[in-house]
Amino acid sequence: MRAAMFYGPGDVRIEETPDPRPGPGEVVVRIDRALTCGTDLKTYRRGHPTIIKSLPSPFGHEFAGPVVTVGAGVDPGRWPVGTRVVAANSAPCNRCHACKVGRQSLCENLEFLNGAYAEYIAVPARIVEQNLYAIPDGLSDEAAALTEPLACAVHGVAESGIVVGDTVVVNGAGPIGLMFVRLAALSGARVICCDLSAARLAVARELGAAETLVIGEGVDQVAAVRALTPDGRGADVAIEAVGLPEVWEATVRMVRPGGLVNLFGGAKGGTSFSVSTELLHYSELTIKGVFHHTPRYVATALDLLRDGAVPSAPFLSGERPLAALVETLEATGRQEGIKYAIVPAAA
Ligand SMILES: [Zn+2]
Ligand SMILES: [Zn+2]
Repeated sequence: MRAAMFYGPGDVRIEETPDPRPGPGEVVVRIDRALTCGTDLKTYRRGHPTIIKSLPSPFGHEFAGPVVTVGAGVDPGRWPVGTRVVAANSAPCNRCHACKVGRQSLCENLEFLNGAYAEYIAVPARIVEQNLYAIPDGLSDEAAALTEPLACAVHGVAESGIVVGDTVVVNGAGPIGLMFVRLAALSGARVICCDLSAARLAVARELGAAETLVIGEGVDQVAAVRALTPDGRGADVAIEAVGLPEVWEATVRMVRPGGLVNLFGGAKGGTSFSVSTELLHYSELTIKGVFHHTPRYVATALDLLRDGAVPSAPFLSGERPLAALVETLEATGRQEGIKYAIVPAAA
């Protein structure tokens, strides 16, 4: 089969590799659609400390398509050949301390799956058991492939304590930021969204943002956001979905006293940010990081897509062949489009 292999930062090659055969408990899926993701762009540019374990590595993690074969011990009645499926890119061990205390996103033995940018993929047994789903009728493969990133955003929103009537600011209108916009609006919040791209902010409005703000030279973003909140006191909840320390700092300054800050965007390794001790203390801020997803949120994400509560169309900007993978990832880095569906079968 043809597959994209990650050799190191800036070095992804499309190669002929052996077709995967299912080991015990595994399910092999023909990849109909694989979606580009900001994490893949970051990995392409600088590698990834947790997702990529050894080089060269299969690459890509959001996919959907039909089952082609199953391994020993897999119930063929549960996963008949031809069943369209979607899987998350990891599954927890359910044995470590983090898992036992209900924090599966922090599992010490998270098993990751890479290799969505390929014609076929073998889904490991642990993911088959916990995070593989048949795609509901009426939901396309490319829409279903949004399940994994949406599960991350569902986790993020669940940790943000949003209540009906809150003002929520979302910094960043990439795919994850836009998912936060939609989920916060569904939670009954009045949503303000900030981004560099007016085109992406138009999508934010389509997904329920009440206010949008184009960030640019000479714009005091913090003041502009606060001016859009009741009495200028700041947002009840501020979410960072960019992954830049300077945006983390600005996000902290956007909340009201007693507000919650969710620093969701993963920043480059080795970076840090600072926060005013006075502000944190006297304003009783809650500042938290949220990472990844858990099986429960994966299930919720697929339900939201099935029901149309999160529409897929605004997130999908077009289809590209596997050979165009790198230039497509680069385009998303220039804020062109939201997510693209890579079609491995296309020439
Ligand atoms: Zn992703
Ligand atoms: Zn665990």
